[in-house]
Amino acid sequence: MWACAKKKTHILSLVLCAAIIGSAVTFAIPAGAEEPTVGVSGVIPDDTDDGLPDTFTLEDNIEIDGENVEVTLEISFPQLPKIHDNSEEDIQYLNDGKATILRYDNGEISFIGGKFTDYKVTNYEEATDALQAVNTLLNGDDICVMAVRADEAPNGDVYYTFAQLTDNEAHPGVPCAVVPNAFIKVGVDKDGNTISLTSSLDPTMQNKDGYVDQDSPEMTAVLKDTLTTAQQYAEEHGGKVVDTGDEILVDFRLNISNAVCVIYYIEPVTEDSDIVGYTELFVNIADNQVFDHVAVSEIDTQTWENNDNDVYFDVETEDMEFTDALGNKVTLPVAKNENGYYFISPERKMVVVDSFTTFNTADTNFILDPVEFATAEDAPKRLVTVFSNMIKVYDFYADNGIRSLDGRGMPLLIGYGYYNGVDRDPEGRDMNNCGYTSVVNGFGCFMFTDSYDLSNCLDITAHEYTHGIRVCTNCHGPYYNNTGAVEESIADILGNLIELQLDPTSDTEKWYIAEASGDPMRSLADPHMFAQPEYIGDINFVMNTRYQTGTSQCDDNGGVHVNNSILPYVVYQMYENGLSYEQLYDIFRYSLDAYVPMCEYKEVAEITKFAMSRLDISEEQIVKADELFDNSNLYGDTKSWDNYEKPEGMVSIEVKLENAPTDCQWSCGILKKIQGSKRVVFATSDKNEVAKYYSEPIEDEDCTLTIFMMKSDGGVYTSTINVGPITSDLSLSKDYNDLEFERLY
Ligand SMILES: [Zn+2]
Repeated sequence: MWACAKKKTHILSLVLCAAIIGSAVTFAIPAGAEEPTVGVSGVIPDDTDDGLPDTFTLEDNIEIDGENVEVTLEISFPQLPKIHDNSEEDIQYLNDGKATILRYDNGEISFIGGKFTDYKVTNYEEATDALQAVNTLLNGDDICVMAVRADEAPNGDVYYTFAQLTDNEAHPGVPCAVVPNAFIKVGVDKDGNTISLTSSLDPTMQNKDGYVDQDSPEMTAVLKDTLTTAQQYAEEHGGKVVDTGDEILVDFRLNISNAVCVIYYIEPVTEDSDIVGYTELFVNIADNQVFDHVAVSEIDTQTWENNDNDVYFDVETEDMEFTDALGNKVTLPVAKNENGYYFISPERKMVVVDSFTTFNTADTNFILDPVEFATAEDAPKRLVTVFSNMIKVYDFYADNGIRSLDGRGMPLLIGYGYYNGVDRDPEGRDMNNCGYTSVVNGFGCFMFTDSYDLSNCLDITAHEYTHGIRVCTNCHGPYYNNTGAVEESIADILGNLIELQLDPTSDTEKWYIAEASGDPMRSLADPHMFAQPEYIGDINFVMNTRYQTGTSQCDDNGGVHVNNSILPYVVYQMYENGLSYEQLYDIFRYSLDAYVPMCEYKEVAEITKFAMSRLDISEEQIVKADELFDNSNLYGDTKSWDNYEKPEGMVSIEVKLENAPTDCQWSCGILKKIQGSKRVVFATSDKNEVAKYYSEPIEDEDCTLTIFMMKSDGGVYTSTINVGPITSDLSLSKDYNDLEFERLY
C-alpha cells in the first residue's frame, strides 16, 4: 500500500508540496511468528525478504606500515519500521484467536476488531506505516491514501482517518481525486497499540503513481486552470487573488465534502465588493469549479482551524431570558443590530438566520440574514426552542469530545424555516420538516420548520446534529438501502439517548421520536406501532431497492426511514438488559470514531460490541448484546425475500408489474392506518419486478395499493388500485399498459 500522508505546509509559491510518500518497506517473517519489535537494537532490516537479518559486509586488504592487513567492515542498517504484512492467521495469532475479522459481500475487509500489527502508532506517519501490516489483506497494492483527521475518543483511544485517492480515469489530466465513500480508520489505544481497523477502501480504484507529483505536467496544468478560475471569481466579486508581491498564496486540501481542492485567498478591492474578510476560495481540481468559499479573519495556511468564519462572530452579546414553546424559562445569548435582537453564540460560532432569505439564492455566496425581534416576548417561541436545543446538543457533544460537527469547531448556521426550493403554502406555512443540509461557505447548515411543532423536539435536533457529525467525520455513506438505514438509525439512537439524558420530561416508555411535537413519528421500543420492522425479514421490512438514485419519492430510498427501527430496537432491548442511558450513549458516541461510510447492519453490530469492550462494559452484557444482534438477523439477506417465511398470522402482499418501461423506477405504496392516521408504506420492486411486503392483516375497506413510478423525464407518476381489506395473502399481476398514471409532480 502506497500511502500519501497529508503534509500541511505553508506554501508561499505556486508550487505544491501536496503529499509525501509513506514508507513502503515491508518485511516478511514466517506466518505465526512474533513480529519483531520496533526499536530493539540488533534487529537488522531484511531487504531480501528471506527472513534473515541483512548485513552489508565490506572486505578489503589495506597496507599498514608496509604490512598487508585484511579488514572486514560490517555495516548494520539504521532501524526502519519493521512491519509484517499480516495474514488473517497472523492477526488471530496476535489476538489469541479472538480478533473479529469482518468482510463486505464483495469479500473486502470491512472491520478488524483487535490488534492488526505490533507496530506502535502515535502519529499520522506511524499510522500510515502501520497500514503496511494489512497490505495483502486489504489488497492494498496500488492504493493511495491521504491522512485527513485524527480523533481522540473520550477514553483516550485515537482514530486516524485516511481518504483514498485515485488517478481517476474519469478526470483525465487531474493528478488525483477522492474515491467516494472510501476511507480507512486506524484505531489505537492511548499507548499506541493498534486496536481496530475499519475500511471502505475500493481496491479497484488504483493509483499506480502512488502519490501526487508536484512537478507533473498535470499538476502544473491544474494550477494554471484553477488560478484562472480564482482570478475570474475574484474579479466578478470586486476582489483579487492575494499575493505577496511576487508569489501567490496557494494551499491544497481535501475540503469538508471530500473534494480535492486548490485553495486561493481572495480579498476585496472595490467599495461594493461582497467578499468578506479574506476569503478562502476552494477550487475543485476535478472540474475546475469554485466549490466553496470561507471567510477568514487572517491568512494562516498552517492550520485547518482557520476554517472558522470568525469574522462573523465579532459581536457583543448579552444574556436574555425567554419562555420556550414548552413553557420553560431559558436564558440565551443575543446580539443587537439596527433591526433588533437576534440569536448568536460567538463562543460556539452559532447564529440563527432566516432560511428563506439566506438559503434562497442561486449563488452560493449567501448573505446571512438573522431573524430579529424587538423584545424577548416577541421572539417566536419555536425559534427560542430551536436555539435553546441546539445549544444543549452542541454542549453535550462538545463535553464528549466533539466540538461542533467536525470536531474542530466549525461554525453553524441555524436556518429558521424549512426552505428546499419550495415556497410557503397559501396559508404561509413552510414544510413540516427539519434537517441538516450541508456545509456551505464553511458553515454547517441546518433548517427547522417555523410553522410546525416538530421544531420543538430535542430528539429531532439531536438527530439532525448527529447526521451533521457523521457527514463531517467521514461516517456517512450512500443514502439508500442498508447504509441509508444505518444513517437514520444512528441519528435516532443518539438523538433519543441525548434527549433521555437531558430532558426529564421526555418519554421513557416507548422511546418516541418527536413526542414533544404532540405527534410522535417513531417508537424505538415498539417499531410495529409505526409500521416498522423489529428485525431483518420482519413484517414492514423494506427490501433493498435495486435503484441507486432518485428513488426517494418512490420508496424512501429503499426504506431508510422504515428499516431504521431495527438497530434502535436492539438498543432499547440493551437498556432493558440493564445498560443505562449514559452507557448506551457512550457506546454509540465511541462508535462514531470507528464507523466508515460503507458500514452496514453487521458492521454496526460488531463495532458496538467492540466499543462495549473498549469501554469496559461487562462480558455478560456483550454476550447479551450479541444475542440481540442475532435475533435481529443483522447478517441476513436484505436483497430478496427468498429466505424469509411469512411470520405467523400475517399477510403477504405481492404485486408484479409486467411490461414496465425499462428506464423507469417503480415501487408499490400500501395505504395503512398508522396510529390513527392513514399513511403510505412502501414495498420495493426486486430484480424479478415484484414488490413484496409482509404486513399485519389490513381490515380497512378503502385499502388501496399505489404504483409509484419515476419515469425517465424525472416526473413521479402514480396509479391507484383499490383492493379493499387484506385479510389473507394478496398476489396481483398488472400490465403497465392497462394502468392509468397521473403525474404527482
Ligand atoms: Zn434523519
